[in-house]
Amino acid sequence: MANLLRPATWGLFSWRGYCSRGTQGRLSAGFVEALKAIVGSPHVSTAAVVREQHGHDESMHMCQPPDAVVWPQNVEQVSQLAALCYGQGVPIIPFGTGSGLEGGVCAVQGGVCVNLIRMDRILELNPEDFSVVVEPGVTRKALNTHLRDCGLWFPVDPGADASLCGMAATGASGTNSVRYGTMRDNVLNLEVVLPGGRQLHTAGRGRRFWKSAAGYNLTGLFVGSEGTLGLITAATLRLHPVPEATVAATCAFPTVQAAVDSTVHILQAAVPVARIEFLDEVMMDACNRHSKLNCYVAPTLFLEFHGSEQALAEQVQRTEEVIRHNGGSHFSWAKEAEERSRLWAARHSAWYASLALWPGCKGYSTDVCVPISRLSEILVQTKEDLEAWRLTGSASLPRAPGAGRGGAGAAALSFGPPGTVVGHVGDGNFHCILLVDPEDPEELLRAQAFAEQLGRSGRSGRRGGAAGRGARGEGAPAERPFRLPPRRALALHGTCTGEHGIGLGKRQLLLEEVGVVGMETMRQLKATLDPRGLMNPGKVL
Ligand SMILES: Cc1cc2nc3c(=O)[nH]c(=O)nc-3n(C[C@H](O)[C@H](O)[C@H](O)COP(=O)(O)OP(=O)(O)OC[C@H]3O[C@@H](n4cnc5c(N)ncnc54)[C@H](O)[C@@H]3O)c2cc1C
Repeated sequence: MANLLRPATWGLFSWRGYCSRGTQGRLSAGFVEALKAIVGSPHVSTAAVVREQHGHDESMHMCQPPDAVVWPQNVEQVSQLAALCYGQGVPIIPFGTGSGLEGGVCAVQGGVCVNLIRMDRILELNPEDFSVVVEPGVTRKALNTHLRDCGLWFPVDPGADASLCGMAATGASGTNSVRYGTMRDNVLNLEVVLPGGRQLHTAGRGRRFWKSAAGYNLTGLFVGSEGTLGLITAATLRLHPVPEATVAATCAFPTVQAAVDSTVHILQAAVPVARIEFLDEVMMDACNRHSKLNCYVAPTLFLEFHGSEQALAEQVQRTEEVIRHNGGSHFSWAKEAEERSRLWAARHSAWYASLALWPGCKGYSTDVCVPISRLSEILVQTKEDLEAWRLTGSASLPRAPGAGRGGAGAAALSFGPPGTVVGHVGDGNFHCILLVDPEDPEELLRAQAFAEQLGRSGRSGRRGGAAGRGARGEGAPAERPFRLPPRRALALHGTCTGEHGIGLGKRQLLLEEVGVVGMETMRQLKATLDPRGLMNPGKVL
């Protein structure tokens, strides 16, 4: 079998260094033939354009193409691929829909990208047990379309139409998580092909219980493992009954603080809100433009309530009281399904609405989550930082016809591509979407400075350094210390990622978050399952 390897690596490769970036695209012909023998010739590609498509996700991380892409059609083929690659020291990179935002699919050491999207069957639906078993190519929208007539639905809804197993791999969440939980709460069992090709059922073959005290929680270990421990080839998911009635709402606030205070008060009042999403005024403006909404431009909450007609009336009344108490205004209720879909489609398109504010720019999304009691503190500070860095403001952008009238926030000046803030605030999770001109190195530095948190103690990285706007002579350096969002989140007992994962860029932050012993324990688990370090190398740890 060793003669299947590229000649240049014969006898020389170490299990880490087999595929340096300089030698990508040069798997030996024999190895490629072996891949074809497993999945069939039409399901293997070494074409540069295909490899490039699979070398990046939706993030800013540089494209790092794999050496080959394969599309298995069943779990046996996945097992054989894993055994072949592992036996030959070839890295394996699982690929879902490529919508990740942390560079999880970049082939940093080359290797074989296993695109699982052609395994797209819904294997088993058990309505009476509220569960379904899906293959890795099934996306969240495809599942909900399939469930349409059975009175059940799957609520975890990242903005992209991601694959459900990719969502399990990243521990994804979405707008419904405040009520229905994240992937961590909604995965009951996983079928996983381990690096050497063995098949594992994390909760036992065919099991679909809601609770168990049997041994270690292997399902929990694989949810959020980002392809570094094995390939998820089927997921058993928990379904929920479609609510009898649904109503959505938007309302505007005079300040960010008022919007966040309302969120906290609604949760404290035990209103079982299904969705509660925050958009700052710049994001609200962007969504108006992109999705042809006509919302008032101000810090805004999008809300949704699920229940019986009677329960909804009560939830809505209590929520209105809280919001009015916090100075909220411009209520708009959406009862019809079409109106609601329009609203949530706009929310799910927030990333693209941001990108459309400054055509040609790339988006960089931060993703922190803090205990709910610290949410207003971090959001208000982050907004101030965006302003101090002149990363906010939309007044200089041409206003779209029919776009909502501006509130106080919309009057901010714009000095460059605006940063937007949007978040699943009911969970304490929010994102700053920074727009960066890829041709402008200073712009890139500035975004990096913001997102990579220069100041460990929160005291370095002041605006006015090389990365700040002040470097262009456009303003005086800020005097106050600048603590950037992820480290600030850690300081507030939060996490550096609420839902996008660690991927390539947040490994140092993971260490700071879980500590040396936590990191060492994760490394030991990885080494046990993947002793040769070939499963999606370079990610998470
Ligand atoms: C517009 C937009 C909005 C988004 N909104 C949200 C949001 O609200 N919440 C949220 O959580 N995320 C969000 N995301 C990020 C992204 O959609 C999620 O991270 C999603 O879970 C990725 O799924 P995927 O199928 O695209 O995985 P990919 O991007 O293909 O892969 C992501 C990671 O999972 C691994 N992986 C994929 N499939 C498997 C598998 N079968 N077995 C093992 N490992 C696997 C990959 O190796 C990689 O490390 C958004 C992205 C975009 C572009």
